[in-house]
Amino acid sequence: MKKTVIVIGGGMGGLFTGAFLSKEGFKVTILEKNATIGGGLQCFKRNGTSFETGMHILGGFQPGGTLNRICTYLGILDKLQMQFTDVDAMDSIIYGEDGRCYTLPGGKEAFTNYLKEQFPAEADGIQQYMDALYSLCEEIDLFNLRNGKGHLFAHNDLFFMPTDKFIARYVTNGRLRELLAYMSPMYGGVAGHTPVYIHAMINVLYINGSSQFIGGSQQLADCLADIIVSNGGQVISGDAVSHIEVCDRIVNRVITQSEKEYRADWYISDVHPDTLFSLTSDGAFPKSYVNRVRSIPNTYSAFSVYLKFKPETQPYVNHPCYYQANYETVWQLGNYDEANFPQGFMYITPPSHNQGPWAERMIVNCVMPFDPVRKWEHTTVGHRGADYKSWKERLMNKVIDILNTLHPGFRDSIEMVFASSPLTIRDYYGVKDGSLYGHQWDCENMIQSQMPIVTKVRNLLLTGQNVNLHGICGVPLTAIETAETIVGYGTIVEKISKIK
Ligand SMILES: Cc1cc2nc3c(=O)[nH]c(=O)nc-3n(C[C@H](O)[C@H](O)[C@H](O)COP(=O)(O)OP(=O)(O)OC[C@H]3O[C@@H](n4cnc5c(N)ncnc54)[C@H](O)[C@@H]3O)c2cc1C
Repeated sequence: MKKTVIVIGGGMGGLFTGAFLSKEGFKVTILEKNATIGGGLQCFKRNGTSFETGMHILGGFQPGGTLNRICTYLGILDKLQMQFTDVDAMDSIIYGEDGRCYTLPGGKEAFTNYLKEQFPAEADGIQQYMDALYSLCEEIDLFNLRNGKGHLFAHNDLFFMPTDKFIARYVTNGRLRELLAYMSPMYGGVAGHTPVYIHAMINVLYINGSSQFIGGSQQLADCLADIIVSNGGQVISGDAVSHIEVCDRIVNRVITQSEKEYRADWYISDVHPDTLFSLTSDGAFPKSYVNRVRSIPNTYSAFSVYLKFKPETQPYVNHPCYYQANYETVWQLGNYDEANFPQGFMYITPPSHNQGPWAERMIVNCVMPFDPVRKWEHTTVGHRGADYKSWKERLMNKVIDILNTLHPGFRDSIEMVFASSPLTIRDYYGVKDGSLYGHQWDCENMIQSQMPIVTKVRNLLLTGQNVNLHGICGVPLTAIETAETIVGYGTIVEKISKIK
C-alpha cells in the first residue's frame, strides 16, 4: 500500500511538494479552494486575454541553474515554454526625477562592469559588493542544491546584516545605493530589517539568468499536477478545506466545503499559517506557538494594473522595467499616500506564443500596504461598492499617466484596462492582508520570524512561501525540505545533485 499525503492548497509550494513525494512513491491528494490550481502560478482570462496573477519573472532556469535541474529531475523541463530576457538588458530602471534610465545586463561580470562604467568612482566598492553577494549565496547549501549540515544560524553576522546597511558598507554614492536595491520590492524589502542573504539570493538568481514563461505561468502548475496524477494521486480544485480535525496533536481528517472528508498518513499545509490556524480545531496548537506565529509581520501587498493593447501600438520589451519617481525612495515604496501614488512600480509585457515586435499585454505591479483598502475589508468580490471602484479608477489613471509620460501615446494604445487591489490578493490566495510574499523576515529578530517545517501536530508539516523564502527562488527549495522531512534528509537533493 502506498503511503498517503493530503496537501491543503494547490499553490506552487503544495504542487512542488506533492510532485516530489509522488516521485518517492506517495499517493498525493491536493485540495485547492479555487476553481483553477496554481495560487501565484494561476493565470486568468479577461475578455479572452490571459494574464498571470503572480509569477512573472523566473530565475534559475539557465543550464546548470537550480530550477533547470529541479525541473529536469521532475521530467518537466522540456514541457515548459519560456524565454530568457535579453543578455544585454535583464532589467531597466528609470527614475522619473531626471529621466535617467539604467539598463542592466545579465551575468555577474557584465552586470558588475556596467555598474563600474556608470559609477567609476565606486568601481572598487562595486566589485567588493558583488563578490560579497555571490559568496553569501555560496554559503547556502540548498540554494546550490548541496546537502550540507549548516544551520541558518551557523553563518556569520554579515549574513544577517540589514540589506540597506550591507549596500552602504561597500558604496557611498546615494544613487548607486538606490540602484543596487531596485529589486527590494521583489522580496518585500524593508530598510533595517530585511537580512542581506535574502537580497543576495534574489539578486544572484536573476543576475545569473532571468526568464519569463511564454503564454503564462499556469503551465508550471499544470505540469506539476500531471506528475501527481500520473503517479496515482489526485488534484481536486474548487473545494476549499473548511476544517482540519486535530486530536491529541494528530490530524484525523480534513473536511471540505462540499462536506467531503479526506484522511491520509501525512498532511501538508501550503496555506498561510494564519489561514491554517483558522481551519484547525481549537487547541490544535499550543497557544504560545499560535501567538508567536501571529505576531510575525507580513510583507506588503500590491495594486496591479492589467492592460491589453490595440494591435501594433506598443513595442514588446523582453525584460522587466522598473520605474521610480525619485532617488532615495526605494525603501519607502511599500508606503502609501494617494496624493503621491505611485512612487514606483515594475511593469512587464509578458511574451505570447509566436511573440513578434509588438506587445499584446502589460502587467504593472505597485507595492502597497493593506491599510488603504481596510475600509472595504468586509466586502466580497463584485460587491465592494462604488467608492472602491472609483478609488481603483483614480489609482489606475495615475499609473497610466506616468506610463504615458514614459511612452508617449501610451494611453491611446489601450484597448482594455482593469486593476486589482490588496483585497483581490487577500481573497484570491486566502492570505492575511493580501501579503505578497507571506511572512516578513526580520534580521533584528531572526528567531521570532523562523517558521519550522514541522509543527506541534505530529503528522502535519508546512510548505510554501511562509517557510524560508517566497517565489521561484524559495518555494521549490522549501518543497524539497518538506518532502525530505518525510522521506529522509538529503534523499531528494542527492538525486537532483546528480543532474548537472
Ligand atoms: C502580484 C504578485 C507578483 C509576484 N511576482 C513574482 C515573480 O515575478 N517572481 C517570483 O518568483 N515570485 C513572484 N511572486 C511570489 C510567488 O507568486 C509566490 O511566492 C508563490 O506563488 C507562493 O506559492 P505558495 O504555494 O507558497 O502560496 P500560494 O500560491 O498562495 O498558494 C496557496 C494556495 O492555497 C490555496 N488555499 C488557501 N486557502 C485554502 C483552503 N482553505 N483550502 C484549500 N486551498 C486553499 C490558495 O487558493 C492557493 O492556491 C508574486 C506574487 C504576487 C502576489
